Amino acid sequence: MAFVITDPCIGTKDAACVDVCPVDCIHPRKDEPEFEQATILYIHTEECIDCGACVPACPVAAIYDSPELTPASQKGLIEANSVYRAGDAAAVAQAEAMVKAHMAAHADLMSVAPAERAVAHAK
Ligand code: SF4
Ligand code: SF4
Repeated sequence: MAFVITDPCIGTKDAACVDVCPVDCIHPRKDEPEFEQATILYIHTEECIDCGACVPACPVAAIYDSPELTPASQKGLIEANSVYRAGDAAAVAQAEAMVKAHMAAHADLMSVAPAERAVAHAK
């Protein structure tokens, strides 16, 4: 079990969640070289302690409590969160490819403003 970052982060990526995470398991941080190129941020599956602090910090409701509670349209991003590893170029590329595939498959959600996407997930 771990929390999952989903597509409202695309186009937002303000790192507010990073600032409140007590175990530093959300990457890339702004001080990591991958930050500028990253499409979204990712939660490290094994390091997340399920504290929930990141959820209210996110201005666009991008973070779900578990893979099970992640809406169907966002399921492809669960694995992206789990494969991303800071500093591992292959893992970073793999996770980013999954996010790009999600964007291509969900043009409808991408056409919605980030702040409105979480509401659209439920439809
Ligand atoms: S639930 Fe807690 S430990 Fe997990 S990513 Fe969010 S703030 Fe970090
Ligand atoms: S707070 Fe939300 S939008 Fe900001 S970086 Fe974290 S998941 Fe992305």
